[in-house]
Amino acid sequence: MERVLVTGGAGFIGSHLCKRLISEGHKVYCWDNMDTGSERNLAPILSSPHFELIYHDIIEPRDIAVDRIYNLACPASPAQYQKDAIHTIKTSIVGLMNMLDIAERYGATLLQASTSEVYGDPLVHPQCENYWGNVNPIGPRACYDESKRLAETLLIAYEKQLGVDIRIARIFNTYGPHMSLDDGRVVSNFIIQAIMGDDIIIYGDGSQTRSFCYIDDMIDGLVCLMTSDLKGPVNLGNSAEISIIDLAKKINSMAGNQSKIVHRSLPIDDPSRRNPDITLAKTKLGWEPKISLDEGLRITMEHFRKISEQLCIR
Ligand code: UDP
Repeated sequence: MERVLVTGGAGFIGSHLCKRLISEGHKVYCWDNMDTGSERNLAPILSSPHFELIYHDIIEPRDIAVDRIYNLACPASPAQYQKDAIHTIKTSIVGLMNMLDIAERYGATLLQASTSEVYGDPLVHPQCENYWGNVNPIGPRACYDESKRLAETLLIAYEKQLGVDIRIARIFNTYGPHMSLDDGRVVSNFIIQAIMGDDIIIYGDGSQTRSFCYIDDMIDGLVCLMTSDLKGPVNLGNSAEISIIDLAKKINSMAGNQSKIVHRSLPIDDPSRRNPDITLAKTKLGWEPKISLDEGLRITMEHFRKISEQLCIR
C-alpha cells in the first residue's frame, strides 16, 4: 500500500483517480479547495478507511509524508480558470512549489497535470512533445497557459537541482461522467443543451477542432506514467480529431431532440486545431486510448441524464 496525495482530488479527473487508487488498495489523501470540485464526485469512497478528504488550498503550505503526489489542483476549463486569473497563477506556481517541497522532503514522485494548452494555438499538427508552442502571454488564456508552461520549467529545475522525481503529463481534452454541470466546456455544455432540447451554442463557425479522450483512458494513462520511469513531458489524449460543428451534430443526433444549432462569437485566442501526437506514450508506456468517442459520449450522456433528473432540472 502506497500513501498517495491527490491535489484537486474532488475535481473531475481527480475524483476518478482517487476511486481508481482506492480500488488498487492505496491510502489516498485528497486535498481540494472545492472551487471546482465536489464531495458528490467522491461519494463511493468517502467512507473508506483508506481515504481522507481535506479542504485545503495548495497555495498555502501544508506538510504530509507520502510516496506519490498527483498534482491536479487547478481549474482547467477556460470559463473557470479565467474567473480569478491571479488565483489560477498562484495555484499553478505557488501551489506546485509547495508540492515539490513535499516531494523533495519525503522522496516522493510527483506527477504534474500539465496541459495541451502549453502548445497554445499550435502552428504544428499534430502536436508533438518537442513542439514549443504558440502562446499569447497577455491574452485571456495566458493565466493558465503561461503558468502551466512555467510549471513545467519549475519541475525540470527541481529535478535537475534537487533530484526530485517528476512526471509531466500534457493532458488533452478529456470528458466523461462527473464533469460539473457548470464546467463550461464543450462536451458538458453540448450534452446538457441537447438533452434539454435547448439551442446548442457553438462559438465561432465550428471549424475549430479538438480531440476528446474518455476519462477512463486518461486515468489509465496517468497511472501508467506515474509507475513508469518516463519523466515526460508526454502527451496523453485521444488522437481522433473532430470539428466542433461535427461534435455538435453528433451529440444532437444521439440525444434525439433535434436542438437548433446556433453560433456565437469565438473567444479570443481559441485554438483553431488541437490534436495530440501520442507516439511517445504508445511506445514508452504501451498506452493508448481504447474508448471511442461514440461510446464515451453515450456513457457520459446517460450520466448527465441521470444527474439532471436527480436535480429535477426542468
Ligand atoms: N465551445 C463551443 N461551445 C461551448 C463551449 C466551447 O463552441 O459551449 C468551443 C470552444 O470555443 C473551443 C472548443 O469548443 O473551440 C473547446 O472548448 P473547451 O472550453 O471545451 O476547451 P478548450 O479546448 O478550448 O480548452
